[in-house]
Amino acid sequence: MNKNISSISLAKEYDSKDDLKKYRKEFYEPNSNLIYLDGNSLGKLPIKTIEHLNNVISNQWGDRLIKSWNENWYDLAKRVGGKISKIIGAGEDEVIVADSTSINLYKLVYSALKLNNKKNKIVTDEFNFPSDHYIIEGILNQFTSEYKFEIIKSNDGITIPIENLISKIDNNTSLIVLSHAAFKSCFLYDIEEITNLAHKKGALILWDLSHSVGVVDIELNKSKVDFAIGCTYKYLNGGPGAPAFLYVRKDLLSKIISPIWGWFGDQNPFEFNLNYKPAEGINKFLVGTPPILSLAAIDSSIDLVIEAEISNIRNKSIKLSEFFLQLFFDKLANHNFKLGSPRDYRNRGSHVSIQHKEAYRICKAMMDEKNEIVIIPDFRAPNNIRLGFSPLYNSFEDIWKVVNTIESIIVQKTYLTYENNISGVT
Ligand SMILES: *Cc1c(COP(=O)(O)O)cnc(C)c1O
Repeated sequence: MNKNISSISLAKEYDSKDDLKKYRKEFYEPNSNLIYLDGNSLGKLPIKTIEHLNNVISNQWGDRLIKSWNENWYDLAKRVGGKISKIIGAGEDEVIVADSTSINLYKLVYSALKLNNKKNKIVTDEFNFPSDHYIIEGILNQFTSEYKFEIIKSNDGITIPIENLISKIDNNTSLIVLSHAAFKSCFLYDIEEITNLAHKKGALILWDLSHSVGVVDIELNKSKVDFAIGCTYKYLNGGPGAPAFLYVRKDLLSKIISPIWGWFGDQNPFEFNLNYKPAEGINKFLVGTPPILSLAAIDSSIDLVIEAEISNIRNKSIKLSEFFLQLFFDKLANHNFKLGSPRDYRNRGSHVSIQHKEAYRICKAMMDEKNEIVIIPDFRAPNNIRLGFSPLYNSFEDIWKVVNTIESIIVQKTYLTYENNISGVT
């Protein structure tokens, strides 16, 4: 089975059969010897987005000035939400783009606890993003009534078995907040299965899709999901700090209001009326003036994802990851590396974490700009090297080169020449 695995020709053959390979040239390439495996943290820049932003800046902002609010900007948050709805299996009227993921989480956790207020338990897991934990704790800290905050544990640090959820979700559970794909191990939940489990106990569920949107097929309506949030600057390539999206299932919308009453969430912001009346639809979750330049960047970048189609993207993501794992077990596992992600692709999103006690220095060696091949992974403490596979711009050849580069860093012990002081954004 592994007949060609150590030769680059197999990687080239896979690339030649790849229907998505044409998208690679749609992205700005800073340097032809760079292999970027951090699209799960900050996606690359689509060339169309450079052109689109230039147009928005020069023509809409420069020439048309404030007239652009009516001509292009006023409903942009809703229009971009409509595009995102297509890739998460939601209705156009159920998604809006606003603020950061953390702030949207605040709005929805607050709304959900108010809605399901006869119960006093909120559940998450130890894999969830720190901000998700903090936001929940912050809200509970503001509430006067007592809530129990339950954190589901993993047995192996990589997966969360469904039994661990079943044992903690009971009739007293008001809300469950989970990341679809875990940011460290990339463990992937089955949204429909867990949502059913929540609903059987009368609990609401909120999914954080930050690490799966744009790369895993998601069917929010079909799975009857109550609430969801997610980032746009990872696999959607919306750019640094681009605003996040928020989803509320249609039948819940009329039953909740946002805890943050801002003028953009009012029925008629431009009446400047002092009596707040929340907008009827998803717009009630807007707060203040939207960041138009960042919204415009998402508006154009996401077209590539929609055009390529999520099912094709997921398909290639699985193939890239499986190719990586074959090479990993062939070349790296015997150099004291351990797999920090689920082995079964059905339980895994689009990055793979590999663990080594020298992970930090190995990352530094991979990223050294003096190298012939420069690789950007990211490091997640204490010992994870995260390799994000973004099917629109990563190739099978990239994967082959990455594994061979890591192997040579280990065999030649080049990582020993780097310092071990961890600093800044990793
Ligand atoms: C990246 C990420 C976030 C980031 O939230 P921001 O408020 O946009 O900084 C939140 N949750 C998860 C699961 C993430 O992966």
